[in-house]
Amino acid sequence: PAHQQDFDPSKKTVVVLGSGWASTSFIKAIDTDEYNVVVVSPRNYFLFTPLLPSCTVGTVDVRSIVEPIRFITRHKSRAVKVYEAECTEIDPDHKTITLVDNSDVKGSRESSTLSYDYLIVGVGAMNQTFGIKGVEEYGCFLKEVWDAQKVRTKLMDCIETAGFPDQSPEEIERLLGIVIVGGGPTGIEYAAELHDFLIDDLTDWYPDLAGKLNITLVEALPNVLPAFSKQLIDYTESTFKEQNITIHTKTMVKEVREKEIVVQRPDGKTETMPYGLLVWATGNTARPLVRDLMAKFPNTQNIRRGLAVDDWLRLEGSESIFALGDATATKYAPTAQVAAQQGKYLARLFQQMAARDRLQKELGSDLSDDDRKKKERKLQKTQDIKPFHYSHQGSLCYIGSDKAIADLPFGAGNLASGGVATYAFWRSAYISNLFSARNRVLVITDWLKKTFLGRDISRE
Ligand code: FAD
Ligand code: NAD
Repeated sequence: PAHQQDFDPSKKTVVVLGSGWASTSFIKAIDTDEYNVVVVSPRNYFLFTPLLPSCTVGTVDVRSIVEPIRFITRHKSRAVKVYEAECTEIDPDHKTITLVDNSDVKGSRESSTLSYDYLIVGVGAMNQTFGIKGVEEYGCFLKEVWDAQKVRTKLMDCIETAGFPDQSPEEIERLLGIVIVGGGPTGIEYAAELHDFLIDDLTDWYPDLAGKLNITLVEALPNVLPAFSKQLIDYTESTFKEQNITIHTKTMVKEVREKEIVVQRPDGKTETMPYGLLVWATGNTARPLVRDLMAKFPNTQNIRRGLAVDDWLRLEGSESIFALGDATATKYAPTAQVAAQQGKYLARLFQQMAARDRLQKELGSDLSDDDRKKKERKLQKTQDIKPFHYSHQGSLCYIGSDKAIADLPFGAGNLASGGVATYAFWRSAYISNLFSARNRVLVITDWLKKTFLGRDISRE
């Protein structure tokens, strides 16, 4: 096919799905001298998700935390094909994928197929709704750039509508009721950013309304942030109390309606909670593409959460498909840290596989005894591929008022810290982990702008 013109037929073709933490880390490290590489992702950029909650109130601009995937691929030693498209089907028998152009602008060709020797599935996960009625229709998620933009616009819309002439007090209270469902790090960080926006900016811009804005967080478990240590959970809950953020624990959302949610309280009774803006952050579930792939391996793929892989990230049941990041169901939490380390590991594994293939080919040709022995020894080494090992660097979460919490591995134990100093650490950790120098400059500039000029309240 025409799109394979630049491919070297002597090299294997690796098709990479996704441009998130997992795939980007793989693409960064893969040696394109060894493989023909093709990237397929419906968004043509990498998104630094840890700073996405900051974009919902304008602390940081979304443009500051994205970088086009071509930023990496154009610097590779051999050309890498990048297609902005969604993979809609994987055919493991014929080793092909179907991709479609789902963008607004379409050419005469909207669908195509690609062949692969190896497929890397790094498509991430989608938002969990547990099938609760009304979530998709009325709730706002916080996963992608457009989600943060929607949350920001909707918040400003609620505030301006609350200020409309002769709005009734009950309607003002509802419109200024911001309800967040899910007390994981996403829900907590959004609540924290919203609180800061309220105190730093909205109080000055809307003196009559700001005091009426209410932030409520609903969590099904007995406490928020289940993955953090007990003292940091207590610290977060007491900080939220000081910030007037109400937390309802042991409270399950049963239904979402246009202007209210129905919840079940710890005593089993149901009640309604009116809202103006509803942010839904209850974690991940597998994407349809992932579920579809699982169904093609009924004997080996039976974890509902995601793709089952072995310790070398090979899809259970397949020799040519690898999977990593949030698309998989492993013993690790679905985090950027895990996804990035898996991507880097997989690129190393591919390097070793290329060396193994090369040696096997050479051993098939005429060689002196000496050379043969040397190569056989080398081959032995390349065949001894170490399994993936995760090294935890710690967990961080922003909790508002310039305070953050951190659980950091320390010797054989854990160092838990929370407060303003931890926030300084949080900032420096994020700055150093940002994708590019351009991102670093932009985020630092955004933070300075916020400090000296305040956040922008214009409705987009
Ligand atoms: P993603 O990063 O979600 O990437 C998936 C990619 O696949 C995307 O490019 C997507 O466009 C593409 N894709 C989707 N469908 C298809 C398809 N059909 N075909 C081809 N491509 C497809 N983790 C941390 O460790 N620390 C943090 O501070 C942190 N903060 C977070 C804050 C927020 C608001 C969120 C939502 C998550 C945060 N996480 C954090 C979790 C982290 O973002 C995820 O674990 C990580 O993104 C997983 O990486 P991934 O590459 O598997 O998936
Ligand atoms: P999560 O899975 O960590 O938390 C979801 C929360 O929602 C849970 O506490 C759960 O009990 C609660 N919940 C589920 N159903 C509910 C219901 N019906 N009603 C009320 N509460 C309900 O999800 P997340 O916060 O989106 O995080 C996803 C992943 O991304 C996690 O692995 C997390 O560690 C990672 N992440 C990390 C950071 C960070 O390190 N700062 C920030 C964001 C996300």
